[in-house]
Amino acid sequence: VGDDARVRDVEPGRVLADLRHLAELTGGPGGSRRLAWTGEWTRAREWLGGQLGEIGLALEADEAGNLWAELPGERDEVALFGSHLDSVPAGGWLDGALGVLAALEVLRACAGTKPPRTVGLVDFADEEGARFGHSLFGSSALAGTLDAAAAAGLRDAEGRRLEDVVGEHGVRLAEAVGAARRRKRLASFLELHIEQGPVLEAEGLPVAPVRGTVGVERERAVFTGEAAHAGSTPMDRRHDAGLAAAGLARDVAEIAREAGGVGTVGAIAMQPGVATAVAGRAEALVDLRHADGEALAAMRAGVHEAAAARAEAEGCTVEHEPIWRIEPRAFDAEIVAAAREVCAAAGGRSEPLTSGALHDAAEVAPHVPTAMLFCPSIRGLSHTPEEDTAEADLLAAVAAYGALARRLIER
Ligand SMILES: [Zn+2]
Repeated sequence: VGDDARVRDVEPGRVLADLRHLAELTGGPGGSRRLAWTGEWTRAREWLGGQLGEIGLALEADEAGNLWAELPGERDEVALFGSHLDSVPAGGWLDGALGVLAALEVLRACAGTKPPRTVGLVDFADEEGARFGHSLFGSSALAGTLDAAAAAGLRDAEGRRLEDVVGEHGVRLAEAVGAARRRKRLASFLELHIEQGPVLEAEGLPVAPVRGTVGVERERAVFTGEAAHAGSTPMDRRHDAGLAAAGLARDVAEIAREAGGVGTVGAIAMQPGVATAVAGRAEALVDLRHADGEALAAMRAGVHEAAAARAEAEGCTVEHEPIWRIEPRAFDAEIVAAAREVCAAAGGRSEPLTSGALHDAAEVAPHVPTAMLFCPSIRGLSHTPEEDTAEADLLAAVAAYGALARRLIER
């Protein structure tokens, strides 16, 4: 093998140019329009296929609509790179696209060589769940956690069924979990993503290793009191479910602060929900997150205690309905250690961050040694056309990603 056949360094400037091109093609002043299972999304994926075609590679769809490309190496085991091209409506230009186009650049750096490991790219289908409310569609199929029966009945805002819409894109929902067969050849997975939070920007650092994703407990606290006239019911004779729910929102914030996690009451629905009536029923949507499973369980217990106290104080009762949960997912210790080294060498953070948002990597991690790198988000903004990262930070983050990718390929 001659020198010219060695895996080259990635060229971060090309990733930036690709990102800008994709933003022009499927975005604009109104933001990205790559909503999953739409024509704009398909157009973005076809463009990706064209780019791979220029280095002699082709995309192949799996049973769940994930797209894969592969550059054969000495060994059959795959060092996999990627993320998702889909966006929320009016989304940002970097969320997901950065990780896919950085993976494309890794393949370009390997083109014309036979690397020690086979090098793979994946574009996961419908990470955002923006249309049907089912996040991590493609990566959960790969992980074998996709519940096809439950997903079948989901509808979009126009009332169209998920099963029918994915069918138009060549996905037979009942067979989507067949994508899991792809797992067995995967030796590693690396995802570069924007932080979507304010930490790295505040520290002035271009890139950070990620140690894992937080656990989430999401449930509905339902307070039942008694609806009554807002004018003629004295304050000391009320059973105000709305007041109990509002009190719980403050408790959730306090419990999260004390536990070192995050907690949000993102919605409170009151009935009858008019100015002239005390609320007889109030539902609070509670979302709790923590990197540590035991601490998360303690937060949840604390919230239940607080809800019972709020209910008692207002003469109400309370019940909790679970909505969704996921345990904390730790990334691979060895890859995270390597990630710390490349980030420190790039002038980034060496102490890993924990991701408060979920990513495709969280689905992959229980099955394949996985890690992520984050680069900063200006003002922490994401899922909006204002989403952005300073050019110098993007270039430094892609260079660090490329250095880590080389280690995974040559491992
Ligand atoms: Zn994303």
